[in-house]
Amino acid sequence: MRTNKYKQLMGQRIVQTMGEWSKQVGVEEQEMHRFFHNLKGTSGTLGLTQIESYSQQMEAAFSSDSDHLIRQENWERALHSVIGMLEEEALLGQPLNADSAAEEVHAVPEKTCPSQNRILIIDDDISFVTLIKEELEKNNYPVSIALNAERGLKLFYDWKPNLILLDYILPDKSGLDVLSQMIEKAKQSHIPIMMISADASLDKQIAAYETGAMDYLAKPLDIKLLLTLLANRLTMKTEWERSITIDELTGAFNRRHFNHMLNLLIDDFGRSGAPFSLAMMDLDHFKKVNDTYGHLKGDEVLQAFVAAAKRVAGKPNIICRYGGEEFSLLMPGADAAEAIRILERLHRQMQTLHFQSDEHSFQVTFSAGVSQLAQHNRHPEKLIEEADQALYRAKRTGRNQSIVYSEEMPKLEQESPLHIMVVDDDPLMREIVVRQFAGWRSQRHKQVQVNSYPDGTTFMHSDWYCEGERHIILLDCTMPGLDGIEVLGSLRRLYPEQSIYIVMLTARSDNADIIRALQQGADDYIVKPFHLEELVLRIERLANRL
Ligand code: GH3
Ligand code: MG
Ligand code: MG
Repeated sequence: MRTNKYKQLMGQRIVQTMGEWSKQVGVEEQEMHRFFHNLKGTSGTLGLTQIESYSQQMEAAFSSDSDHLIRQENWERALHSVIGMLEEEALLGQPLNADSAAEEVHAVPEKTCPSQNRILIIDDDISFVTLIKEELEKNNYPVSIALNAERGLKLFYDWKPNLILLDYILPDKSGLDVLSQMIEKAKQSHIPIMMISADASLDKQIAAYETGAMDYLAKPLDIKLLLTLLANRLTMKTEWERSITIDELTGAFNRRHFNHMLNLLIDDFGRSGAPFSLAMMDLDHFKKVNDTYGHLKGDEVLQAFVAAAKRVAGKPNIICRYGGEEFSLLMPGADAAEAIRILERLHRQMQTLHFQSDEHSFQVTFSAGVSQLAQHNRHPEKLIEEADQALYRAKRTGRNQSIVYSEEMPKLEQESPLHIMVVDDDPLMREIVVRQFAGWRSQRHKQVQVNSYPDGTTFMHSDWYCEGERHIILLDCTMPGLDGIEVLGSLRRLYPEQSIYIVMLTARSDNADIIRALQQGADDYIVKPFHLEELVLRIERLANRL
């Protein structure tokens, strides 16, 4: 019977202690106190009630802070009594505390995955520790043991447990000191620390809670209670972890988790050489969905998209919300061709979704760019940049499609024209800009077209916008009719942001204008009068970002 194993172990420990003590001149009173204090906890947990109450008496009889020496004949008598009681118990074969439950494997509530939850036990009572360790391991928890504070702290930092059981009295330090040393870091990672002690006095409990203990458990411990409580605490921790990695609105992983996973996967697959692909996905004309059907409907679409992506992509693929209506799909094990097959399934899935708003029904599509991990792009930023470039291509060449990145893409980008426009009621300003940029080229854009407009209304009514192409608009703040800020507001409402950069032209005194412009989504501003070189430099910088 298992219980006997612990009884035996306890017997061995006592004999061993007697061996050690007999080499000493005498045993300090406080050491006797600690010995019986521990024995009280273990015997209680093992259901050895006779030893438990005897230990309690002895614990009380010896002071916890006296170094007065106890003579051998006295301590020997005390320990022999315990061995006598142990032998009696063994003969009786008394079962383990509470319903002889030790043989059965206690079920751990669902939700937690024990094998991923490392438990550190810091306790010097070896027979108690071995008993708890065995119970936890039966339930698949990985367990480490520290018999003193120093070792406990070392394991806390190196082994990174998910939960800690901490004894109140340790040989080298008080458990409370250990607790206060660990608590800051433990709180940051939401690691529950449970104090365990044979002393359940109120002031001890309060001190532990004040220092930050999550729970205070008194020995003797009921194993089933411990397992249930432990599972609850770990579920709480798992839920917290979930809450910081999941995007609340859609249930996709968030950007933080995306960055974390991307780094891991690049490392992993870089090492194993297995393929790995990344897709950047963006909903098409999503701004129109919001404008036409409202933001709530827009939110619903985002949720439906993520649900569809989860259904279609399945394991081991990971869908993350990269920002706004942009998502990323991490596809470990998939090469670019397999990634495209997955995305094609998602395109088909989206075709089956009909969203309802009042009497209108509408559909939503998405575009995606794929990059496959290889030697040359084994870096998160590079991999994302390639997928992004492929995504832009997908957008520019008709949307509702997924495209794999290829080396030629940056060249294709250069071929598309860049439009530079100036909207200003000052004819001189228009002329300067038009002259300055006629025949001008940026690094990325070999074709540049320059246009000018005398006021906001004329500009808004013209067909200045070229779908899929890039625009830099120099916008005067103060103009008759529609002023620059109003034009800016409409542009940001009506057109996709990533294809239009807006630079406000303002007079030096107009600080309020600058602030309003930036709040409304201006990319930059230039204060008049300005140097032409300065203007060219800014435009060059913006053009390289487009
Ligand atoms: P394109 O096809 O070029 O991607 O056009 P688009 O309209 O989808 O692109 P754009 O980036 O201009 O617009 C994205 C819009 O997504 C703007 C923003 O208001 C909206 N959006 C971002 N996050 C949310 C959100 O959480 N909920 C809702 N309803 N809308 C959001
Ligand atoms: Mg979009
Ligand atoms: Mg977007």
